[in-house]
Amino acid sequence: MEKAVRSVTFQVDHEKMACGIYLPMTEMVGGVPVKTLDIRVCKPYCDPVLTEGEAHTIEHMLATGVRSLECDHIQVLYFGPMGCHTGFYLLLAGNFTDLEALQFLRAGTEKALAMTACPANNRRQCGNCRTLLPTEKVRPVLEKIRALCLACEERKSFDSYTYLEMK
Ligand SMILES: [Zn+2]
Repeated sequence: MEKAVRSVTFQVDHEKMACGIYLPMTEMVGGVPVKTLDIRVCKPYCDPVLTEGEAHTIEHMLATGVRSLECDHIQVLYFGPMGCHTGFYLLLAGNFTDLEALQFLRAGTEKALAMTACPANNRRQCGNCRTLLPTEKVRPVLEKIRALCLACEERKSFDSYTYLEMK
């Protein structure tokens, strides 16, 4: 039997998407809510996409930033770049509000902004550390994530998608 493939993000109209912080999914895993955050830093088909170096360096810095936060009710499951290089996914588990998730991401981003060296920038801890950039090169992208969080925090909600009209 074929399993019906349901991907929320494939139903989003990427031609009508602005930069922002989106919440495409909340799934229950073993009784615990798992939220997927879509951190969209490049407007698709308008802005230049992230370079390999930018995506990789921010992965190291922001994954470390959010994982180093002391927060007993939000657990980081995953942080990483999208294959299309227009943003990142952050998966968080636990019982928390949208505002708390946004504040958590911003706090992790502020940790990353305070870093003077990219974490795990060596051959033993990374599979291709040659593409990692100096931290100041990715500062504008981190600043942008911080600004997108603040805009959402002010409204106490994530940005909202425009969905494709399914025929
Ligand atoms: Zn790496």
